Amino acid sequence: TNSKVKLVDLPESVMGEGFMATKFEKAITLARANSLWPLPFATSCCGIEFMATMGANYDLARFGSERMGFTPRQCDMLLVAGTIAKKMAPILRQVYLQMAEPRWVIAIGACACTGGIFDSYSVLQGIDQVIPVDVYVPGCPPRPEGILEGVLRLQELVENESLRRRNGDEYKQLMTSYGIQ
Ligand code: SF4
Repeated sequence: TNSKVKLVDLPESVMGEGFMATKFEKAITLARANSLWPLPFATSCCGIEFMATMGANYDLARFGSERMGFTPRQCDMLLVAGTIAKKMAPILRQVYLQMAEPRWVIAIGACACTGGIFDSYSVLQGIDQVIPVDVYVPGCPPRPEGILEGVLRLQELVENESLRRRNGDEYKQLMTSYGIQ
């Protein structure tokens, strides 16, 4: 079980009294944060580290993310791991657009974050040039512990995110800045 799961907004005084009080919004964000379904977009070495993260030793399943999907419509956490060539950028963007809201993105490793060592005409210098990124995991490659840390940071973000943010002006502006309606 996920040790991070806790009752929210529950005063000490009602613990053990047989009922729980919380806000509906908080319950939804807690459920979302602890059931993020990963969609791996892995192109090179960092993808191998992600495979290790899914394995028994590091066990991403502990955090509710064991259900890996290979169809964008059934996933809400896009994990981009590896070098993204400029020719691949439209495909990455298409995959992102095919995911339903709410959706989140983690850039895993230096290549996905900034282009890494490949300061080249053919390599995208960071996936945030084409899609919005929620969490950046540094490293070349990051160890599985680093990837897990990135997922935990994303869980925090999801858990504390107001459901209204997704309809707010700020969010719409962000999407518009990426040419997404
Ligand atoms: Fe490979 Fe390093 Fe790029 Fe990861 S960041 S894909 S390990 S070159």
